[in-house]
Amino acid sequence: MNVDQILSMKGRSVVSIDASHSLSEAARLLSERRIGAVVVVDGRQPVAGILSERDIVKAIAASGARALDEPVSRFMTMEVVTCTGRHSINELMELMTQRKFRHVPVVDGGQLVGIISIGDVVKQRVEEVEAETQAIKEYIATA
Ligand code: AMP
Repeated sequence: MNVDQILSMKGRSVVSIDASHSLSEAARLLSERRIGAVVVVDGRQPVAGILSERDIVKAIAASGARALDEPVSRFMTMEVVTCTGRHSINELMELMTQRKFRHVPVVDGGQLVGIISIGDVVKQRVEEVEAETQAIKEYIATA
């Protein structure tokens, strides 16, 4: 199973926010869309940054509630690790574990074409394990 196959099931839409918007607008977006991270765009590149709920918690811990009026660009991670549709789920699991983040935007042909979260990876693995278990049960029953 690769990233392209997951995207064809979950969809390719990506929730994004402009780097100039405020942290409170980003928090509202995360809450409304029930997601953990947004891709930050600036009109020049497919991915200018990524802002996750952890960045918001860190900003408030450091600066208090006034951080919420500051622009997203101050708190986003600028060096974003991306993948392509050809990456395998195992490669993504390894990447998320090693780098300690839970979101990977998918870029193909210079375009942002999706995002994979740790939830998508876990869901996929659970389905695979269930299918393997079912196949073994059927094999045993018919052997
Ligand atoms: P997360 O675990 O995804 O909530 O993110 C934890 C931290 O890693 C936050 O500071 C994010 O901005 C950052 N982060 C999340 N995803 C990525 C990524 N694909 N590449 C680089 N940094 C990331």
